[in-house]
Amino acid sequence: MVRKLEAQGLRHEAVLAAMRSVERHRFVDSALANQAYEDTSLPIGLGQTISKPSVVARMIELLCHDRSEKLGRVLEIGTGCGYQAAVLSSVSIEVYSMERLRGLHERARANLRAFRLSNLHLLMGDGMLGYAKGAPYAAIIAAAGGNDIPQAWIEQLAVGGRLVAPTVTSAGKQNLVVIDKTARGVVRTELEAVHFVPLKSGIG
Ligand code: SAH
Repeated sequence: MVRKLEAQGLRHEAVLAAMRSVERHRFVDSALANQAYEDTSLPIGLGQTISKPSVVARMIELLCHDRSEKLGRVLEIGTGCGYQAAVLSSVSIEVYSMERLRGLHERARANLRAFRLSNLHLLMGDGMLGYAKGAPYAAIIAAAGGNDIPQAWIEQLAVGGRLVAPTVTSAGKQNLVVIDKTARGVVRTELEAVHFVPLKSGIG
C-alpha cells in the first residue's frame, strides 16, 4: 500500500512511516480485512466509511507542509473507526479527535486500545463547534464534508496553522479546501475533487 502511495507522489517521510506502521486491517470488519490495503474507502457501520489511504496520506501531508518536525496540537473532526486518528497521532504532539455518533466513538476506542496512543484523545460531540478547550490548534482536519467551513474551526486555528477539509465549492462539487491562518488574515486554497460523507450537526 505504501509503495503505491510513494508511486503516487507522496514524499513526506514521517507520513509514510506512519502509514507503514498503522495496520489498516485492524480498523475494518474481519470480512473486509482482505481489502484493507487497497486504495479504497470501506464501510465502517452506521452509514460511514474509512477514508481511502491515499486521501488520508494526502491530507496529512498537506497539514505537515514540507516540514519534518511534528505537528503541535491537532483537531480531527470525524473519528470514524479511528484509523486516521492513529496515523495523525504518530506525526503530532497531541491529537483531539471528535465523533458525533456514539457507536463509532466507542468502536474507535475499542480499535485503538491496543495501540496505547497516550497523545490521542477521543471526544464525543459535534465537531462543527470544534473543541474550544484544546484551542488554538496547529492543524485541523475534517473527515466529513460540509457546504462551508465552520467559523469555529477558523477561530480555533492558531496563527500559522493550517486546516484541511472537504468542502462544497462554488462549482457545487466537493473539493479539498486548505485554509492557512496568517497574521494578515485567512488564505483559502481549493484543491482536487474528493468524495467524503457529509458533515452533520448535532450528535447521534
Ligand atoms: N477518519 C475516519 C473517517 C470517518 S468518516 C476514519 O479513519 O475512519 C467521517 C466521520 O465523520 C463519520 O464517522 C461521521 O459520523 C463523522 N462526522 C460527521 N459530522 C460530524 C460532526 N459534526 N462532528 C463529529 N463527527 C462528524
